[in-house]
Amino acid sequence: MNEQCVFCGIVAGTAPGVTVAEDDTTQAFMDINPATPGHVLVVPKQHSRDLLDIPADDLSATTRTAQRVARALVDELGADGVNLLNCCGADAWQTVFHFHLHVTPRYRDARDQLTLPWTPGVAADAQELRDVGGRLATALS
Ligand code: AMP
Ligand code: ZN
Repeated sequence: MNEQCVFCGIVAGTAPGVTVAEDDTTQAFMDINPATPGHVLVVPKQHSRDLLDIPADDLSATTRTAQRVARALVDELGADGVNLLNCCGADAWQTVFHFHLHVTPRYRDARDQLTLPWTPGVAADAQELRDVGGRLATALS
């Protein structure tokens, strides 16, 4: 538990939150500023700062809960699709530094005004793909 962390507060029950699912290691609650109606956040109960910090078991459990939530968004709210998003680091839009997955329902209608944050269909330079991919493959081998 991190005393300064709002998501630790929701898990502990000392901060308000609309919880939709809970198990031994994870909790899912409504995002107070939803991107679309039904936007849920899934967190590990144990505080981790971000994707680079979270233990693998907590990451797996959080992902499994996100899948359960995604199914409910489709089955109960009639979502036409779902986005799963994690922001790792302030430069990647992270604002709350307790690891969380955004499970965001997508709708084919006016409830949904989201757009892709990058321009689709802009191809990379083939040599650059090989160079960067090669560096990563070496780092990961
Ligand atoms: P991120 O920018 O990826 O760190 O996402 C943080 C998310 O937490 C945002 O979508 C906020 O709307 C949401 N949020 C912040 N405070 C609360 C809170 N007290 N209860 C529920 N959601 C929150
Ligand atoms: Zn926390």
